[in-house]
Amino acid sequence: MHISNTTKKVRSGIEFDKQFGSVIPPIYLSANYTFEDLGERREYDYSRSGNPTRSVLANTLSDIEGGSGSVVTSSGLSAVNLLLQLLKPGDLVIAPHDCYGGTWRILNALSQKEHLKVLFLDLNNTEELEAALKLKPKQVWIETPSNPLLRIVDIEKICSLAHKVDAQVITDNTFLSPLLQNPISLGSDYVLHSTTKYINGHSDIIGGCVVANSKEKSDELMWWANATGVTGSVFDSWLTLRGLRTLEVRVTKQQDNAIRIAEYLSSQKEVTKIYYPGLTTHENHHVAKKQQKGFGAMLSFELNLDFENMKTFISKLNHFSLAESLGGVESLIAHPYSMTHASMSAEAKKIAGISEGLIRLSVGIENAEDLIYDIDNALK
Ligand SMILES: *Cc1c(COP(=O)(O)O)cnc(C)c1O
Repeated sequence: MHISNTTKKVRSGIEFDKQFGSVIPPIYLSANYTFEDLGERREYDYSRSGNPTRSVLANTLSDIEGGSGSVVTSSGLSAVNLLLQLLKPGDLVIAPHDCYGGTWRILNALSQKEHLKVLFLDLNNTEELEAALKLKPKQVWIETPSNPLLRIVDIEKICSLAHKVDAQVITDNTFLSPLLQNPISLGSDYVLHSTTKYINGHSDIIGGCVVANSKEKSDELMWWANATGVTGSVFDSWLTLRGLRTLEVRVTKQQDNAIRIAEYLSSQKEVTKIYYPGLTTHENHHVAKKQQKGFGAMLSFELNLDFENMKTFISKLNHFSLAESLGGVESLIAHPYSMTHASMSAEAKKIAGISEGLIRLSVGIENAEDLIYDIDNALK
């Protein structure tokens, strides 16, 4: 029988407890598990290597991403690092020039130590990408929509080009969540999430995961996750499982609010540019429409304000908290130049198009009119 992802998310681990019949899956905090007898290991022996609560989450995440196995990690960045364990010294990695600041930082730092080579490219520049692929990269990293400019790249196209030279493709799907985009179905070998964001959705854990398109790949990752100790905390896994049950209702409402805010911003004279893939004016709207099941709830825009006026604008907002991170039920505002992307060099920010006038919103589930009124009031 076909079970929809909607139901899989809600019912993940429900009635999994056979001992007491608890409806919600129990949380197994035990660090270790007895052996049944000498030489007779049970399914679990030590919680770094494996844990029943974490397994429920890992299996559901793999299922709803259309993968063959997944590893739940202690953060999104530990998921990034886990994938970097697959490289040999000197291997080449191709990554987007506007990737997540923390991803950029670790790739850049490891390349400076000559652990790997990295080329940061605009993946929409097919000529540059094809030239780089001739250098036989081991991994091609994709992030779409990208942070913070919501640039869209064609996952299917990049995967087919990368696979021709035997490179593996990793897609960071954090911005859309498994509800709105499933990169494995578009050819990606791995999907990465910072579960800190939409999957948990309540800004109260740090976590990550990698979903692989084959059992062989996920087993290899599980081996490295145990060897390096990056597996996720049990309590955080349990909270994430709770968050996951409401992913669909949360993201649907967040997206509805984001569309209304994008439309409002489009008509404001102070807004010089707006980046939201759902607007037909977005340069890759057609690609987003083809590969996504929705346009998400992240948007950025540029304000024609100097730093002092920008400060005033932000201080006048009541329903948008000035904070990093995204994907929670509460609306947030961020200034990428000085916050999320502060770890990028000024030159890298310039190349990536991250200006001082750029504002990023993570739209929450509040009432849309309240949110729009709030922005309108602050602009005035
Ligand atoms: C937050 C984020 C990460 C890193 O995840 P953490 O959980 O903060 O370690 C990676 N990629 C993207 C796109 C993110 O937004």
